[in-house]
Amino acid sequence: MSTETLVPYDEALARYEPVLGIETHIELGTNSKMFCGCPTVFGAPPNTQVCPVCLGLPGALPVTNRAAIEGIIKIGLALNCSIVEWCRFARKNYFYPDMPKNFQISQYDEPLCVEGHLDVEVDGQSYRVEIERVHMEEDTGKSLHVGGTTGRIHGADHSLVDYNRAGIPLVEIVTKPIPATGDKAPLVARAYATELRELVRALGVSDVRMEEGSMRCDVNVSLMPIGSATWGTRSETKNVNSLRSVERSVRHEIERQAAVLDAGERVVQETRHFQEDTGTTTSGRSKEEAQDYRYFPEPDLVPMSPSRDWVEELRASLPELPAARRGRVRGEWGVTEKELQDIVNAGALDLIEETVQAGAEAAAARKWWMNELSRRATAQGVELTALPVTPADVVRVSRLVAEGTINDKLARQVLDGVLAGEGTPDEVVERRGLKVVSDEGELATIIDEVIAGNPDVAEKIRSGKVAAAGALVGAVMKATRGQADAGRARELIINKLTG
Ligand code: ZN
Ligand code: MN
Repeated sequence: MSTETLVPYDEALARYEPVLGIETHIELGTNSKMFCGCPTVFGAPPNTQVCPVCLGLPGALPVTNRAAIEGIIKIGLALNCSIVEWCRFARKNYFYPDMPKNFQISQYDEPLCVEGHLDVEVDGQSYRVEIERVHMEEDTGKSLHVGGTTGRIHGADHSLVDYNRAGIPLVEIVTKPIPATGDKAPLVARAYATELRELVRALGVSDVRMEEGSMRCDVNVSLMPIGSATWGTRSETKNVNSLRSVERSVRHEIERQAAVLDAGERVVQETRHFQEDTGTTTSGRSKEEAQDYRYFPEPDLVPMSPSRDWVEELRASLPELPAARRGRVRGEWGVTEKELQDIVNAGALDLIEETVQAGAEAAAARKWWMNELSRRATAQGVELTALPVTPADVVRVSRLVAEGTINDKLARQVLDGVLAGEGTPDEVVERRGLKVVSDEGELATIIDEVIAGNPDVAEKIRSGKVAAAGALVGAVMKATRGQADAGRARELIINKLTG
């Protein structure tokens, strides 16, 4: 094994050209498993969602889940793939404790969807990621290693296995090699994973939660000397489970492999594991070749031959896809690419769109969700969607501001009230008495009191130093707890003292 010396990133990129490849596994959100009727609820007690089929008991026979096939065809179509007219499942044979059958039903040389692409954008530049195949398979169970400090098998007393996940429909999306990304390689990898997640989420076929493992990326990286026509040997970092880790793992592999190549050694073709705490990858097992799996056509399942009518029906049912939606929204809201990116990153796109659709101005909807509510969500460490405030509430608040019933400062207090469970925006205005003081008589009385209480300042204004009025306006605002119209108060003060 080579040493863990690293070459600084910029230096590595000055000599080597990275080539990426990404395999992504996505669990579909079907109600039942891929080849049996077992439920698929996440987090159920271990081994409560199993049956003879997904436990691989003798004589049990699988039946293909139609909803899962619909899901994968939608993904294939959204990725611009061709849907083949005929294909089969295949057995991938290997022994591992989390796989009760000792084989995985997958697809080998006859995948369902082939030859697509997904465009991603990094720093204003577009990169086309070619998709080689999208195939259908089933997930494995989960091993739990007990007694160690790390949760890994090393140092554990014993291991337990939970087969609830075994047999959940799994879609695998494999890119072609992605060349010519240069120093943007880590960002392109991340942008691809991000865009793929958004796409699948928009299709509604998976919750694509990387932290729960319903989307996991295997990230392949190789380096070749700049100008070379021969690709280098790749490493494959398995099951990377956050977007940030996708980016960091590519970066680390570039720095590590450059050091291996600089030392005149060869990069070992192997799987590696990404370590969140150090941002590094560590060696896993040396990569097996396809022939080691002894693939053969699955004898217990009939071939799949999706009719062209069905495929076209599914194509017609696709929703607006993320890239098209972003283009539309940018035009409608008049925001820059950067502003839109911030909105997407804050998880505010759906909320702002619903708020606009419910009647708010785009600028107002953006202001309240992005400036005020986003900040509160971050402070509380929750997702924006988890705040107890609805697009309808935001529409009402922006309308109250537009009508002059409240100002921006009071609007923030109204939102605080709504978030604290004090009721609708109107109820909060009423209960907290937050209306702007627009009654001239009431305002005049307060101004008289303020003038009487600040004779020195009043004298300055009388003698022509109008700028001093600011201090009295401040006192009026204080006396009304911010509910007066500051501009009107200033006018009245100056008129009274100099008029
Ligand atoms: Zn089952
Ligand atoms: Mn797979």
